[in-house]
Amino acid sequence: MDWLHNLIWHNGELFGVAWSVWKIIGWLGNTVFFARFFVQWYVTEKKKRVVVPVAFWWLSLAGSLLMLAYSLHKRDSVFIFAYIFTWIPYIRNLIIHRRHEEAHTDCSGCGKSCPPQSNFCPNCGARLIPATS
Ligand SMILES: [Zn+2]
Repeated sequence: MDWLHNLIWHNGELFGVAWSVWKIIGWLGNTVFFARFFVQWYVTEKKKRVVVPVAFWWLSLAGSLLMLAYSLHKRDSVFIFAYIFTWIPYIRNLIIHRRHEEAHTDCSGCGKSCPPQSNFCPNCGARLIPATS
């Protein structure tokens, strides 16, 4: 188990990394950004079809902003460019998701939230009255 101790605690540092506030921000960004793949994979396996859950976009946004902050701190142009524009599609996807959610109609029969443009409730079969806006 000496090798394990050596891996975790190396040269008097955790994982041999010289920790600072910026290192924590960078690694937090890495962790959040990496976690999105597992969230997407988990939901896809659970639903047995390819799904991109809304959490994927939130994790993408949070992770990329942390990585952008870290890259700006590092003043590395290659690293900065990798994260400077990625927030645009993440926010756009979150906006479109929000609009789609708001376009749902609540069934007067059972109260289920029904997808936009549906004429009948997929749960109870009641005719839906389109929401007036
Ligand atoms: Zn219904």
